[in-house]
Amino acid sequence: MVHLPGRIFRRLVRSLFWAASGFLLLPGALPAWAGASENRETFEAVRAADLKLATIGWRLSVANAPLCDRLEPGLGLQLHTLDQFDSASRTAAQVHFGFATPVAVEGVVAGSPADRAGIRQDDSLVRVGPVDLAALPGKPETTQRLVAAQLAIADLPPAAAVEVEAIRAGAPIKLTVQPVPACRSRFELLLSSGYNARADGTMVQISSQFIEEYTPDQAAAAVAHEFSHNILHHRDRLEARGVDFGMLSGFGANVKYFRQTELQADLLSVYLLANAGYPPRAAIDFWNRFGPSKAGGIFRSRSHPHWRDRVATLEAEIAKLETVSARPMVPGVIAERSQPLSGDWQSLLIRHR
Ligand SMILES: [Zn+2]
Repeated sequence: MVHLPGRIFRRLVRSLFWAASGFLLLPGALPAWAGASENRETFEAVRAADLKLATIGWRLSVANAPLCDRLEPGLGLQLHTLDQFDSASRTAAQVHFGFATPVAVEGVVAGSPADRAGIRQDDSLVRVGPVDLAALPGKPETTQRLVAAQLAIADLPPAAAVEVEAIRAGAPIKLTVQPVPACRSRFELLLSSGYNARADGTMVQISSQFIEEYTPDQAAAAVAHEFSHNILHHRDRLEARGVDFGMLSGFGANVKYFRQTELQADLLSVYLLANAGYPPRAAIDFWNRFGPSKAGGIFRSRSHPHWRDRVATLEAEIAKLETVSARPMVPGVIAERSQPLSGDWQSLLIRHR
């Protein structure tokens, strides 16, 4: 298990990028007094946690590409930028990671196209296909350039070979990567001592606490739930119903739509897990661990079904999918995603007894 030093949370870099969530905590938010060895430890802990999430995201988005109507080229690259580090840690980050350009490879997912093509961590990127990374906009102390790079690469054809120009140990290299189609999504680690997970339609964000404290399968279950919201276009469909995402989300007419989307995301999540080779029961393990102590807060009790009912619902769906051996499995909820939300959550829920 990686351990992120508690002191990393004391100095937070605020990003205006996520207007919805308020603040994004960026890696590299180190205390000014941190020594070189503390920097190294923290940078490598963040790298390890980022790569764990990237690997989960990679597995889920490649195996489930047939379930997605928005694709991107799956490369298996975890990127980071020098400008996402705050001024106190930027020099240390530059030295540690050897940034020769503003965007570099933080990690490579094992067995991915980037790995097979020979791309290595700490390769500094010059160009990915037609995307000139230094030309992308990037404000200091934000992830703007990182996000711009991810979006520009995601816009490339999902299955066409990509030429990558990089700088490795001071020398230019050129490699060709043959991507595989992947669901179009970003996966973002939030450095936080709290338990948070969210999806905004195009991005899945999960707090580092899940990656640190939960098993990889359980963390994958949490990611799969959030990812399901995006695959099912829940944000757009809730907005089409005029649902309020603020403090009122747990009240009135909104509740039935939120409950329907929550249950749909639970149901799809076990198929995403199974298709990606994760045990679908990881979703139950997750709730049995998370539910008793923490099923409040962001997992709002008013708009979300009780976690014990969610477990009962998951149990029933897993019993169904375990009779199917074909992969990938495409559940009926995928075909329904073009329809407006009905608000019928009762027919989806199996009560705990
Ligand atoms: Zn949810």
